[in-house]
Order: sequence, then C-alpha cells, then structure tokens
Amino acid sequence: KQHLADRVKTLTPSTTLAITAKAKELKDQGIDVIGLGAGEPDFNTPKNILDAAADSMMKGFTKYTPAGGLPALKQAIIAKLERDNNLTYAPNEVMVGVGAKHVLYTLFQVLLNPGDEVIIPIPYWVSYPEQVKLAGGVPVHLEATSEQQYKVTAEQLRGAITDKTRALILNSPSNPTGMVYTKEELAEIAAVCEEADILIVSDEIYEKLVYNGVKHFSIAQLSDSVKARTMVINGVAKSHSMTGWRIGYAAGNAEIIKAMTDLASHSTSNATTTAQYATIEAYNGPQDAVEEMRQAFESRLTEIYPKLNAIPGFHVLKPEGAFYLLPDVSEAAAKTGYESVDAFAKALLEEANVAVIPGSGFGAEKTVRLSYATSLEALEEAVSRMDKFVKSKW
Ligand code: PLP
Repeated sequence: KQHLADRVKTLTPSTTLAITAKAKELKDQGIDVIGLGAGEPDFNTPKNILDAAADSMMKGFTKYTPAGGLPALKQAIIAKLERDNNLTYAPNEVMVGVGAKHVLYTLFQVLLNPGDEVIIPIPYWVSYPEQVKLAGGVPVHLEATSEQQYKVTAEQLRGAITDKTRALILNSPSNPTGMVYTKEELAEIAAVCEEADILIVSDEIYEKLVYNGVKHFSIAQLSDSVKARTMVINGVAKSHSMTGWRIGYAAGNAEIIKAMTDLASHSTSNATTTAQYATIEAYNGPQDAVEEMRQAFESRLTEIYPKLNAIPGFHVLKPEGAFYLLPDVSEAAAKTGYESVDAFAKALLEEANVAVIPGSGFGAEKTVRLSYATSLEALEEAVSRMDKFVKSKW
C-alpha cells in the first residue's frame, strides 16, 4: 500500500534547506564554513517588542484569539497600511496568519480550482510554485532575464494570459533578485491585469528593506480598482527581525479574506497569541530599529557589492532591496571546469567552504543566491575565499 497522497508526490524540497543541511554537516566536522544561505535578518527582535510579548503573557493573554487575528492587531495593521502605503482597509479586509508564507498558502487554497493558472515570474521565491500546485493550480512561469533587471514586462504578461489565468504573483522588493518595480512599471502591469480581469498577489514582505534612495510602492496604491483586485501580503518577519514569531497578513477583497479566515479556523485556529501581541507593539511602537537594520544592510551592500562583482566570471546586478545578491556565475563555472552552476556551488561549499544557494531552486540556473544578512567580516572573508577559488582554477 502506498502511504502518500498524490498531491505531495511532486513536492520539491527546499533547495535552501538542502544546502544549509550540508553546510551544517561540514561545520559539525569542525570545518569553518561561512553560510550565506540565510533568509532572515541576523539581528535580535527589538526589545520593546519582546517586552510587550512578555507583558501580554504575564497579564494572562494566553488563550485563543479570533481566527483572523486580534481586533487590536488588525487595527495596528490597518494603521500601518494607511501610514506607510496610503491604503485604507476595514477590519473585514484584513486576515492575520502564521507568517506570510502560511497566509499565501491559505490564499491559494481559497482561490484556485483544479487547472487554474497562476503567473509566476522567474526568478521566483521557492514556495510560490509549490503552494500553487498544492492548491491544484498550475504555475505558469515567465522568464525575466538579467537584461530586463529580472522584472517582467507588461507585454510578456499579456502573452502569458489565457482564459484559465486567475492571478499574477508579484514580489517587490524581490527574493531572490533584490529588484524593485517602479510605479510606472507597476502601472503597465496593472493595466494588463485589469484588461484580463485577473487578481494580483502582491508579496511586499521586504518593503522596508530598500536602498540608495529607492522607494517601495505598492501596486494597490495605483487606483481603487487596482486595489480591489490586489491581495497585499506582508508581515513583520523581515522588517522587524521577527522571523520565528510567525506573523503575516493579507489585506484585500472581503470575500476572499472571509474564506481565508474560515479556512484558518479549521487549520491553525489562530496565529500564536503572544506573537500577535508582539506584533501590535511592532507596528504601534517606535520604528527606529527598523531603520537601523535597513541602514546596516545598506552599508554591507555598499561594501560587498563591488567586491563580489570583481570576482572573475561573476556578473551581478546591484540590488535595490531585500538582502540577497544574485550573481550570474555561469561564466565562472564554465571557466573553472564545472558542467553546471549547481556543481560549482557544491564545490564552493566543499572546497572554498562558502555556502551559497544554487539559483536552480529559483528557476534561475545561471545564478547563485547569497544573503548579506550576516556580519560584514564574514561577508568579506566569503568573497575573498570565492575569489581565490575561482582564480586558482581559471
Ligand atoms: N515571501 C517571500 C518572498 C519571502 O522571502 C519570505 C521568507 O523567506 C516569505 C514570503 C515568508 O515570510 P514569513 O516568514 O512571514 O512566512
């Protein structure tokens, strides 16, 4: 007898986790591996947030909450969306879940019928296609090349839409590319979505991490009609260094939000109560720590970007947001005798002791992803190791 349902048979395990496990194995053997795989800020959660969480527990707020989130948290999120994004929502248009990842999962579960298509630009965050497939949907990939700054164009989008298309996923600032869509680019994309009457899933989890004067703009800000077809996804994981607290949310169409809340009522019941109290403070309290962390990422990027780009055969677009660099290393791999970038990344780990994530997991086979959510010292050392490795084999 077989144990597993068909729906999990095509699940691709996360490449990020595979390389992290291998790096850990080497570390356990006493090898000094520098891990650049991390998808989370390397800072502690700000103290005022920790205090608010502890305080809520001591007051006895440790019971179930409404499935879609505490009313006070919804109000804090509504105030945040108004303040930062100039977007107005009512409480029945907001749903709080167990991290942005699970909110996206819930969204696709309530949105898709078997065979419904969701357009996902390449390079993509690894979980989008898997979540779409788990909901019975079909991921339709659109390749955004480095020549187009890894951003899809309205024209490409128009060409990919069929009568089965339900939604487009946009992630700006992007993991893994670090690119940020401009208001003008978003306007062109939104026009196509309106014409074709499809939803926009706008994953804005990296909104606070933008550099060198680049501004984040939410596609929902374009007009009331674009807002009506957009599900804004956000959370505190990356902005407030709260990855482990698992709080994310969706804002948008009330009918979709209600279905997501009803589904959550049968799956999670609610996001962890303490974490919800922490998030109220994250949004209602002082925001200085958010800006301090952003500045730390920006100064690391300024230091490390030119050095990474100077490694022979590494070609890197300068990121505008998030905390990843996505060098095209296909030339370096070929010139040093590797048949693929995956093999090159494996050698970087085993011989240069630097752990990077092969881009194949993001649909971008020529690249590797490096996270700069680590100390500048570690970054400098990692770049120097990779430089030596490439030069010694060139
Ligand atoms: N969306 C993107 C693009 C991400 O990179 C991540 C985290 O890596 C998430 C969503 C999930 O965030 P959360 O920790 O809130 O689930």
